[in-house]
Amino acid sequence: MSQRVVLRNVAKSFGSVVALKAINLEIKEGEFITLLGPSGCGKTTTLRLIAGFNEPDQGQIFLGDEDITNLPPQKREIGMVFQDYALFPHLTVKENIAFPLRERRTPKEDIDSRVEELLELVRLAGVEQRYPSELSGGQAQRISVARAVAYPPRVLLMDEPLGALDLKLREVMQAELRRIQQELQITTVFVTHDQTEAMNMSDRIAVMRNGEIEQVGTAREIYNFPRSAFVADFVGRINLLDAKLSSKSEGIAELNILNYMKIRAKMTTEEELTSGPLCVGIRPEKLVIGVSGQESEFDNRIPGTVIRYSFSGNLVNVFVDVGADRPFLVEQRPDHTPLNSGTKTEVCWNAPDTLVLSAK
Ligand code: ATP
Repeated sequence: MSQRVVLRNVAKSFGSVVALKAINLEIKEGEFITLLGPSGCGKTTTLRLIAGFNEPDQGQIFLGDEDITNLPPQKREIGMVFQDYALFPHLTVKENIAFPLRERRTPKEDIDSRVEELLELVRLAGVEQRYPSELSGGQAQRISVARAVAYPPRVLLMDEPLGALDLKLREVMQAELRRIQQELQITTVFVTHDQTEAMNMSDRIAVMRNGEIEQVGTAREIYNFPRSAFVADFVGRINLLDAKLSSKSEGIAELNILNYMKIRAKMTTEEELTSGPLCVGIRPEKLVIGVSGQESEFDNRIPGTVIRYSFSGNLVNVFVDVGADRPFLVEQRPDHTPLNSGTKTEVCWNAPDTLVLSAK
């Protein structure tokens, strides 16, 4: 029976290293949530605390309504999938999948039918008698998923399960894992540092940074309404500029950028615009390279010089020096006329596409 998971003020340090700083997270029953963030931000620690491999220094962990903070791992009924598959090399596929069922003394005839059912679930019927060394990476990972859900767990935890696979297989397996999760309707916590993978697979994403959860939301919420420059930069590509609020009225804010010009943003909440240092962010697909005579149709324009132009098949990346630390990236459709380096131009966009972000 799938269940919700609640982390309440959960903190964990290893000696002087603070791995988690009192995080709160509620994972709904049947939800697929991804912990996303750079190396060392605390993703694996969070997973290990839920699994019971580590104990928190403070806080509580609930599974359903039960406080499992001090419950040993084997009593938590949690399935776990690791990047290195962790299959038993000396056991066949069938014996690997059957292992958790045997441990729970499931009758032999039930084990046989359950293994068959699980191999069908992961679309690998026919490999029962093979050993793990006779499987491809994708197949091995399917078997480790089958083993993790053999005795239906209350929650499935997956730590970078696709990290060892090449890109094409990764994409196939993303869809496969999601299908399996949806078929079983099992509450799942998935860890990755790959933002595309997180966006492809998850109901919600928790973006982590330095032992804290910076933002939780659907892929769309996080991409379209990031709260901080960190989240905006980690999830997708973004052009960032330090900014100071100059004025605000009737839903429009004016902000100073680059020490010499003002741009407009559609106002979000008061709090976001007034607390702490700010910056503005504009997604590359929202920017347009100014075409003479049309620039005035846009709310915002910054002059700049094209420094690089690269074709990547479905789009063209134009890099424009606007006087910021990093060149601005403009994504254009590939049918646009190529621009030579050194071309003077303007990058243009509209006020609703200016994201006002916490710069911290
Ligand atoms: P990665 O993507 O590299 O796996 P992560 O986000 O999963 O990173 P964690 O493994 O949770 O990060 O580690 C968080 C911090 O805690 C890191 O600074 C790490 O070095 C530290 N840490 C984790 N486990 C231990 C441990 N057993 N002993 C000491 N420090 C640890």
